[in-house]
Amino acid sequence: MSNPNSQPSTLSPAHSAPGAPAPYRGRLAPSPTGHLHLGHARTFWLAADRARAAGGTLFLRNDDLDAIRFRLDFVAAMLEDLRWLGFTWTEPIINQSERLPLYRAALAQLHAAGAIFPCTRTRRDVLDALGAPHEGAAPAPDDEPIYPPQFRPPADAPLPPLSDALAVNWRLRVPDGETLTFHDNSLGPQSATAGRDFGDFLVWRKDGVPSYQLACAVDDADLRITEVVRGADLVKSTFRQLLIFRALGVPAPQFFHAPLMLDAAGVRLAKRHDALSLRTLREQGKTPDAIIDAF
Ligand code: GLU
Repeated sequence: MSNPNSQPSTLSPAHSAPGAPAPYRGRLAPSPTGHLHLGHARTFWLAADRARAAGGTLFLRNDDLDAIRFRLDFVAAMLEDLRWLGFTWTEPIINQSERLPLYRAALAQLHAAGAIFPCTRTRRDVLDALGAPHEGAAPAPDDEPIYPPQFRPPADAPLPPLSDALAVNWRLRVPDGETLTFHDNSLGPQSATAGRDFGDFLVWRKDGVPSYQLACAVDDADLRITEVVRGADLVKSTFRQLLIFRALGVPAPQFFHAPLMLDAAGVRLAKRHDALSLRTLREQGKTPDAIIDAF
């Protein structure tokens, strides 16, 4: 098998020979921004189980592009927790921070296709234009406010060259009014309308890194992932990523969005739920079997 960390300058346009079913390729994609909790474990267990049942390959992708929240000790903790639970994956681990040339090549492809535009507006400008309150915390990927259409440059405005403008944010122009659909292998048929349910979204940040949406779509295409298994909080991101696959001319994988795990009060588990972190459960004497059997 080829090294998954190899960095071709363009993405392969097809997953497999016409007519041949592509062998299953899945991935686990934790972010090292906190300790993994029971909800991650269940989603990853589902991902691993689906790969195993299909006799497929499972990769581990370390989503370590968030320079502000990323911590090296969380990477070590994440690997230790996953190994403790009995997860195995195809080596080497894919570190997003080592794949910038691949993401830059994809950005250049989007630029050449006229699919993106530079954006100098701040988050505050966007929220002001929408009359929305300014929250302090960074939003989850799915909470991105809809980009005000009046901030868009006209579709036929010439784009500045990327080399002059890598230090600005770049957004993908969404096809307003188009309803996108996909069949989710867990949730069934899904649809969302561009410009109404989500707007022009960030693909490149002015600090020189791709957004989650771009890095994730590029990696899923580059690794020829056949099914993405992840939490249902990312369904809206899937529509954005479908637009990236389309703009890059690569096939989209299938999707399986796992229901989110709730705590006793019905609140979605998050990294702040230390009581349900895998470390805490291990310290309390819970065994991997007891955790997995409860799924
Ligand atoms: N690192 C992302 C997260 O934890 C991955 C999402 C995905 O599987 O695409 O939310």
